[in-house]
Amino acid sequence: MYDIIIVGGGTAGLSAAIYSVRAGKSALVLEQKGYGGQIVNSPEVANYPGIRQISGFEFAKGLYEQATGLGAEFKLAQVVGIESAQGPDGIKRVVTRSAVGEETVYEARAVILATGAKNRPLGLEREEELTGAGVSYCATCDGMFFRGKDVAVAGGGSTALEDALFLSGVCGKVYLIHRRDQFRGEERLVEALREKENVVFMTPYVVRELRGDKSLASIAIQNTATGEERELEVSGLFVAIGQMPDNRAFSGLVDIDDKGYIRAAEDCLTGTPGIFTAGDCRTKAVRQLATAASDGAVAGLAACEYIG
Ligand code: NAP
Repeated sequence: MYDIIIVGGGTAGLSAAIYSVRAGKSALVLEQKGYGGQIVNSPEVANYPGIRQISGFEFAKGLYEQATGLGAEFKLAQVVGIESAQGPDGIKRVVTRSAVGEETVYEARAVILATGAKNRPLGLEREEELTGAGVSYCATCDGMFFRGKDVAVAGGGSTALEDALFLSGVCGKVYLIHRRDQFRGEERLVEALREKENVVFMTPYVVRELRGDKSLASIAIQNTATGEERELEVSGLFVAIGQMPDNRAFSGLVDIDDKGYIRAAEDCLTGTPGIFTAGDCRTKAVRQLATAASDGAVAGLAACEYIG
């Protein structure tokens, strides 16, 4: 029996673990992939208060070492459901499933859902089939496979801009495809990209079709203003059009909005006694590293207070 189980080992989850164990509670973090969440794929973080510049991996490593060094436990497991016993002090039973289908139940007095969000697909025909065969959602993980080759990046946020910058140092031509002329991402990244001779801005365009036999050979793109269609010969397409949450396993437990986010205000309370939420998986206006860490602190302390 743990005091607090935290579902998700990203910035919000690990911050919640730090606050929980520092308040003298036992905490278990359950995470299905590796620690750190989305930020591990960011080559450079330059907007976290107090840290001028750090790689996402180093940042995540620091969080993990801080949380586990303070005594938080960390287990790799996929949470498939949570049962909450009736009553204000109801024990929470967190069910996990391993890769071979083995189920384990962990118990806690409070649970913090910090499941983050996963990459949003473009929704194109053959996108799933070509994932790993030209289509990728992680430039820093897969960019090296496209050394010297022409590639495209789809998206206009900071992730897409960072991806294009990273790939410009590895690949041949890098087409940056965005559906609007204005970028959502940080201006300093746009400026850095304008300096790169091998980066070609393709705006306002959207990707319409993925072409190629067994692997990606080209993409059909369309200008959203004029309707003009073009074909770009690329062997890689890096999709960076944002994230979406996956909270289906908790649909009977907490209130979820029509986009899949767990409904909770800045107090991180879900409305279900003893269940809290933190980070990108909850309804909120600003999804940043700083707000994920902030949510972790708020939810961690709220869970400690709930336990008493
Ligand atoms: P994002 O800011 O939500 O940007 C998503 C981009 O994809 C937008 O430009 C959007 O276009 C485009 N898009 C969405 N759906 C699309 C579709 N179906 N077809 C074509 N384009 C589509 O996502 P993100 O870049 O992953 O960033 C997420 C958060 O993390 C942001 O708050 C960001 O600032 C932060 N971040 C920080 C760092 C860092 O600090 N180093 C690095 C990366 C990300 P529109 O603009 O037209 O809506």
